[in-house]
Amino acid sequence: TLEPYDVVILGAGAAGLLCAATAGKRGRRVLLLDKADKIGKKILISGGGRCNFTNLHVNPAAYLSQNPHFCKSALARYTPADFLDLMRKHSLSWHEKTLGQLFCDQKAPAIVEMLWAECRDAGVHLRLNTEIQAISRATERFHLQTTQGAFQTTALVIATGGPSIPRMGATDFGIHVAKQFGLKNIPFSPALVPFTFTQTMLDGLFAGLAGVSTPVAVSCGEGYFREDMLFTHRGLSGPAMLQISSYWQKGAAVQIDLLPGRDALSWLQTLQKQRPKAELKTVLADVLPNRLAQRLCETVFPNRPLGQYGDKLLQSIAEQLHAWELTPAGTEGMRTAEVSLGGVDTRELSSKTLEARHVPGLYFIGETVDVTGWLGGYNFQWAWASGWCAGQYV
Ligand code: FAD
Repeated sequence: TLEPYDVVILGAGAAGLLCAATAGKRGRRVLLLDKADKIGKKILISGGGRCNFTNLHVNPAAYLSQNPHFCKSALARYTPADFLDLMRKHSLSWHEKTLGQLFCDQKAPAIVEMLWAECRDAGVHLRLNTEIQAISRATERFHLQTTQGAFQTTALVIATGGPSIPRMGATDFGIHVAKQFGLKNIPFSPALVPFTFTQTMLDGLFAGLAGVSTPVAVSCGEGYFREDMLFTHRGLSGPAMLQISSYWQKGAAVQIDLLPGRDALSWLQTLQKQRPKAELKTVLADVLPNRLAQRLCETVFPNRPLGQYGDKLLQSIAEQLHAWELTPAGTEGMRTAEVSLGGVDTRELSSKTLEARHVPGLYFIGETVDVTGWLGGYNFQWAWASGWCAGQYV
């Protein structure tokens, strides 16, 4: 039996849920389908279970895309303030952790319950454990074959997210649908992901550093972030490295300023006069974690009493402290990536409605689209904003 719907949304994640509620409130008959056994799985594990659901500093510059302008329209029309209004309506509260990152006081499940309450009140139908077997389009309608029967709809919204964390069932399904309808895409690749290094580096420079964390400024390509860096057993992580991983390409080096905001040369020159007998590793341990200071002086810098450094050597040490270059071997990949770069090429979509330009009725929202945010609530805000905008038009 073909049940007719106005809107069928594939994927009951962040974008799909908000889109469903928005369309339902406009009186559309909405069906939300998901292959998982529950809704909003990535919301539930986000932000360590507290869901960093948005960021006060949301702006287009915090998003990566082949077309950096594409996200502007949706982000301007559905803002963090709009999501906060929704939270207030459901008596949820939040706190800012750092850098504008807002976390839910009642934790991640409360966000999922809120979104579901909105969907339920708007009359949205939900079917879980539903695999999509085939999609076809005829007479201005989409026909879906699924493991739970057949459905037809005027508008089809693809909100199946990206392929990061495959063990949660994440896939690149959205790209396959795009291809089926002749839309271009940018292949997915892991972002917000820890770096790995060669065994030689791990046994050499990085030996004994796992667990050490220090504030840095890191840059690579167009990316620049001032956050904490963490040494791990396999390489580098921490917010600074996760952020810069989105800008990194294989073979490139990342440049690390170990003493951001300080003038290392004048600092070392002053100390050289005041404490000529103090060793470099001792003074570095005042401004860097002790283990890192030791390791740098065992492997990167010759360790001596400060009085014994010539001007040139001191200058080169200062330069390296501000621009330490490391070349990662790779990343941990989709297994641990928080999001994925790439997705449906934005040139194929209307930035206002998220509808495919040449396939009327077909919409793509959320992570499936080639818009990827920084760490810190930006990705959920894109999911909410794109979901809401499509929900206005479907
Ligand atoms: P999703 O939320 O991933 O939803 C996609 C849905 O589609 C899922 O329910 C899935 O089951 C379903 N689906 C997939 N394939 C199919 C298919 N073939 N058929 C039917 N259904 C399908 N972002 C932040 O902003 N703040 C955070 O704190 C944060 N923490 C994160 C922590 C982790 C560990 C991870 C992995 C991600 C985190 N993110 C965070 C990123 C954020 O979760 C995603 O950007 C966001 O969920 C994307 O929303 P979406 O609706 O596009 O996709």
